[in-house]
Amino acid sequence: MQPHILIVEDEAAIREMLQIPLNKAGFILEEAPDVYQAKTMIFNRIPQLILLDWMLPDTSGIEFARQLKKDSKTQEIPIIILTARGEEQDKIRGLEVGADDYVTKPFSPRELIARIKAVMRRVSTHSEKLLVKELQLDSIEHRVMVGTQEVQMGPTEFRLLQFFMQHPERVYSRDQLLDQVWGANVYIEERTIDVHIRRLRKALTPHGYERLVQTVRGVGYRFSEHK
Ligand code: CA
Repeated sequence: MQPHILIVEDEAAIREMLQIPLNKAGFILEEAPDVYQAKTMIFNRIPQLILLDWMLPDTSGIEFARQLKKDSKTQEIPIIILTARGEEQDKIRGLEVGADDYVTKPFSPRELIARIKAVMRRVSTHSEKLLVKELQLDSIEHRVMVGTQEVQMGPTEFRLLQFFMQHPERVYSRDQLLDQVWGANVYIEERTIDVHIRRLRKALTPHGYERLVQTVRGVGYRFSEHK
């Protein structure tokens, strides 16, 4: 699976300049011209890295980085700040909010790719791997494996499974799952959860792990190794 990189940058020329070189380097580049669109894209699919421009039309890159690092669903995503500012003070501010690196414009695609690879190597050494029996979820590579076989699932099922694996042996109501997995300010009907639970079970069925996702009648769901 190729790593997805999200670039949040209002200058189309910079986004376009990076498409082909990043593709050739083995990455899939997703583009957002502002924070508003970036949020939607991140909600649909967690990227493996974010290239974040400092000066954006809606929210500043620094402010957005701070928000991403506060949210448990996005805090693990490495961030490289892109900026025209070269002052030491700005660099320090960028790193203080939790950015992993800082690249000053103008930069060459080659230079940026080297920095991306360096950051990814660094984070993969402390990548979060969750393991239950042979089922392994890697939050950095955004991948679920059973042995050497990849388990295919959608982004919502992935987040649901990640939450379950982080909190096994506990019963969660649909309402609690909504808050924890979808976020408290997202409006989704409770029965939507049942749909995603069904899809998650279906994804796990070929590997024999569908029974880990258990229905607790009248209460909600539980992720458990035990019956
Ligand atoms: Ca800009």
